[in-house]
Formats: sequence, C-alpha cells, structure tokens
Amino acid sequence: MNSQNYPELFGEHAEATTVDVAIVGAGLAGTTLATALAKAGRKVALIDPHRVHHNEFRAEKTRSEQIHLFEKLGLGSVVKALVTPTNDIQVFRFGQLFERKESAEFGFSYGPLVNGLRDGLPPEVPLTVGKVAEVSTGPNWQRLVLANGSIVAARLLVVATGYSEAVRRTIGVERVELSKAHSLAIGFDLEVSPQQFGPRSLTFYLGTVRDRIPFLTVFRIGNRMRANMFVYRTAADPWTQAFRANPQQMLLELMPEIANHCGDFAINSPVELRQVSLTTTSGHRRDGVVFIGDAFSTTCPAQGDGIHRALTDVDRLCSTYIPLWLATPGMGSEKVSAFYDDPIKIAADQKAMLASLYAKAIVTETGLEWRIRRLRNNTARQLMIMGRKIQHLAKWRPRGGIG
Ligand SMILES: Cc1cc2nc3c(=O)[nH]c(=O)nc-3n(C[C@H](O)[C@H](O)[C@H](O)COP(=O)(O)OP(=O)(O)OC[C@H]3O[C@@H](n4cnc5c(N)ncnc54)[C@H](O)[C@@H]3O)c2cc1C
Repeated sequence: MNSQNYPELFGEHAEATTVDVAIVGAGLAGTTLATALAKAGRKVALIDPHRVHHNEFRAEKTRSEQIHLFEKLGLGSVVKALVTPTNDIQVFRFGQLFERKESAEFGFSYGPLVNGLRDGLPPEVPLTVGKVAEVSTGPNWQRLVLANGSIVAARLLVVATGYSEAVRRTIGVERVELSKAHSLAIGFDLEVSPQQFGPRSLTFYLGTVRDRIPFLTVFRIGNRMRANMFVYRTAADPWTQAFRANPQQMLLELMPEIANHCGDFAINSPVELRQVSLTTTSGHRRDGVVFIGDAFSTTCPAQGDGIHRALTDVDRLCSTYIPLWLATPGMGSEKVSAFYDDPIKIAADQKAMLASLYAKAIVTETGLEWRIRRLRNNTARQLMIMGRKIQHLAKWRPRGGIG
C-alpha cells in the first residue's frame, strides 16, 4: 500500500508503516501474538512504551496446560528456557499432607518471562518503542499516530495493554468492575535455600472465614524460594498493614504446621502486594479492533487462569480468526464479533471468572448455604485423610502373628 494514495490515513507528509495487524502492548499476550503471526507470514507492528518490561509482581507460576499452549504457538522452547519446573507438588490441608501430585508446575519472574518472549521475536517484527497518541478505527483501516508523529496503518488493531486504560479510553471502551478489590496477592522470597527446601512445591490451604486466606504456595524460581499468598482483603486493611510490618510472626501463627518446611518463614525480600479486581469490558464489539488478555478481562490470580485466558485469546486469533478475516476485504464489527462469540474463548473466560467468584465465596461467605458447602467439602477431605491413614496402618500391620 502506498501512503501517497491514502492522505486521509497518513496525512500529507507523514512516514507511514502499513501492516496486516498492529498490536498495541508487548506484554505476554501481545508479544506471543506478534511472534505467532509473524511466523505465519503476516506483516505485524508491535508497539509498547517500554523497550524492557519492568520487573513487576505478576504471575509467577503456571501449569503444563499453559506450557502446551505456548508449544502450540511455537514458543515452547523459548518459554521452557525461562521457567523452573517442579514435578513434586505437595498439598497440605488441615495442617497435614493431603495430596502429592506428580503433575508439573513452572515458576518464573514475570519481567524476565516477557523480556525473554520479546527476545524471541522474529526479526521481521521489531518492537516499536513509543506511545500511542491517537487511534482511529473503522471497517477497513485502523490508524495509529505515535507520540513521535509516526503513523501505523493496519487492517486489524489488537489491544493487549493489560491493566492500562489509556488506549482503551481513547477507543471508547469501558471496563466493567464485577468485583472491586476482589483479592490481594502477596509475594515474598523465603530465606530457605532450594537445596534445603527440596525439589518440590508446596501449597497450604487455610480457607477459614476468620483468616480470609485461601492458600499460600511456595515454589522455586531459579535459585530463589518464592512464596505467593492470596488474601480476600484490601491493601488498606489493618490486617494487611500488620502483615507487612511483621510477616514472619504472622505466618508462624497462621501456619505453624508447615513452618519447619519453610525455614520458619524467614523472609529475605520486600513483601510485594497487588490488589486485583475482577473486570470485563463493554462496548468492545466495534469495527477493526479486538481486545485480548487483561485488556479484555481480569480474573483472580489465586486461580492462576490469567495466562491461560491470554494464550487462549492468542491461539483462537492465530489459528482461526485472523487468517479468516484477512482473507476477505473489510474488518467490520460483524467479523470481529465472531472472536468474542468463540465457544473456546467464552469457556476459558467464564471458567476463570466463575472460579474466582466461587473461591472467594467458599472462604468468606457466612450464609447458611455456604456454611453447608464448607462443611460438606471439609468433611469429605477429612474422610479422605482418615481413609488414607487407615490404609497406611493396614499396610504396616504385622501379618500372620500368633493367634
Ligand atoms: C499479582 C498477580 C499474580 C498473578 N498470578 C497469576 C498466576 O499465577 N497465573 C496466571 O495464569 N495468571 C496470573 N496473573 C494474571 C496474569 O499475570 C495476567 O493475566 C497476564 O499476565 C496478562 O497478560 P497481558 O499480556 O494481557 O498483559 P501484560 O503482560 O500486562 O501486558 C500489557 C502490556 O501493555 C503495555 N502497555 C500498557 N499501556 C500501553 C500503551 N498505552 N500503549 C502501548 N502499550 C501499553 C505494557 O507495557 C505491557 O507490556 C497474576 C496477576 C497478578 C496481578
């Protein structure tokens, strides 16, 4: 496409880049999408205000299911080099070892993960470092003006700006809060060394109405032992302030049964906090633009579904919708809507949202229905523990003794 023929898109003198797909936001979703599309031969622009993604407290652990999605998108080897796998997952309930799973979990720091994905971008997709100053969308072409005056024209615009509102607001979509300040994620490093801790990850469920803590999980990221704890409280809650002031003492009081597994909870990093709301988007069915990952919806980190939702969006766009949309002229809202109506995307989003709401209710609600549910769940788990103890005793009972 020649910029001189489209003065309404480019202006008279501007330097313009034309692409099939412009992606705004080079986080996990945007970078993965850019790589997969470029590998499929699409012309892509990827724009982010920062060359290096800062080291923020975000997702730090994921499961095999998400690694399979990275593999499907051609990024398996890139991602596996950035994560620390664990195959022995120990689950504690009621202060006792409840379950030992042999499935895999993978620990990582979010900044290095996103930067590693960016390093894996094919040469055809250089990261454009810049701020989007203007956006206009329409049924044929999307036009972005960056703060330095350069212009990008694309048939499709993908907004992958995570929690940030600037580009969403410019386009005119709204975030709908389904549960404000739903949960608080707390992250810190433990002093215990990976050698002392052993090659395992540990998850300790509390789940009492008084504590409002679903669980704490401890896992390895490289040479660090990292803990993530989730609480249904706000950052301003006096409990949170007290935890920040003396995390070790509070952890010892909350979880004395596992303290010896965790070096008595000696902590050797700042305590990081992140408040998360459950949100979705309204007014998003419009010509020429799709919203993906956290730019479309946010769910509770305790359920660990954010990466799965983001990668499902990327996979559905790459494997089905973008090839279909680019094969015919135009990019009207009826085309783009097919993505939001995709059953696999809807199922991933709904599962994450419902799990987020249920997980909080089962820990915090005090109505009769929820008390009965808690009693039912806890009784079933206690019976399982008891059944296993009986089996264990039966196994070790001396056989064939004297009458
Ligand atoms: C504390 C915490 C713990 C979590 N734990 C888990 C977990 O264990 N498992 C899990 O699956 N999920 C977890 N999540 C959720 C998960 O981190 C997110 O769902 C996922 O990382 C979203 O990726 P994204 O690409 O949509 O957004 P991001 O990775 O945030 O990417 C957004 C990008 O947009 C860029 N950007 C912002 N504004 C602009 C702009 N104006 N113009 C251009 N670019 C812009 C940013 O620089 C960034 O690069 C957690 C979230 C939090 C907060």
